[in-house]
Amino acid sequence: MTRVALVTGGMGGLGEAVCIKLAALNYQVVTTYSPGNTKAKEWLAAMEEQGYKFRAFPCDVSDYDSAQQCVADIEKEVGPIDVLVNNAGITRDMTFKKMDKTNWDAVIRTNLDSVFNMTKPVCDGMTERGWGRIINISSVNGQKGAFGQTNYSAAKAGMHGFTKALALEVARKGVTVNTISPGYIGTKMVMSIPQEVLDSKIIPQIPMARLGKPEEVAGLVAYLSSDEAAFLTGANIAINGGQHMC
Ligand code: NDP
Repeated sequence: MTRVALVTGGMGGLGEAVCIKLAALNYQVVTTYSPGNTKAKEWLAAMEEQGYKFRAFPCDVSDYDSAQQCVADIEKEVGPIDVLVNNAGITRDMTFKKMDKTNWDAVIRTNLDSVFNMTKPVCDGMTERGWGRIINISSVNGQKGAFGQTNYSAAKAGMHGFTKALALEVARKGVTVNTISPGYIGTKMVMSIPQEVLDSKIIPQIPMARLGKPEEVAGLVAYLSSDEAAFLTGANIAINGGQHMC
């Protein structure tokens, strides 16, 4: 039986690695892209050239109605969703002094409201079928806080509160809910940080003295998606090169 995995933001640095890993493990992989993303077709074609036939649906994960429509379309065209990876996210970094309501709301809606918006339409189906995996991609900065990220740290910490509460509610129904908290991974989001800041401020905080690789996070998503991970729920798994241990 082929399981369907929905990875939000699968065209981003981490999401793409997750899509590739799950496809290699025989999941039917579906992803989302922002309605304004003009490069979605290009990405799908590039992936197909590499041998991966993904489906992609437009979705603004921060918008409840858009998320409901997206899941309804996927279930109609592809089938019920067995694995949901809530991966789409943004940063809008600035000190709290400069933080305005617009940048607070954008980050909370895209990183935290999105988890409710996407999980809501898939969770009942998972519990009814007696099997499901919900994986929320948080961040080390949700665990330890980060200068200039009151919005992001709050949203990412909130994700794990959601994980723990929902894990309790669905534990007897074969559905697991977990959080992954990556440290700094070498994707577009992190490579947009100036190199001198990476070299002087970020890498020195990482005992392994390097950025993580998207494939390393994808491997963890694959494990949490598997049957072998059936007893693992409500966890927040850090993958950060030793940067933060809790
Ligand atoms: P990218 O910026 O490369 O990708 C982010 C993805 O999110 C894009 O595919 C984007 O899609 C999608 N997205 C953003 N806003 C929306 C929206 N409103 N609706 C739908 N999709 C949206 O980031 P990464 O791959 O680096 O990050 C992925 C996740 O991992 C994020 O949640 C991030 O917070 C988390 N993370 C990343 C770390 C890192 O070091 N890179 C460290 C810790 C956590 P589109 O381009 O179509 O808008």
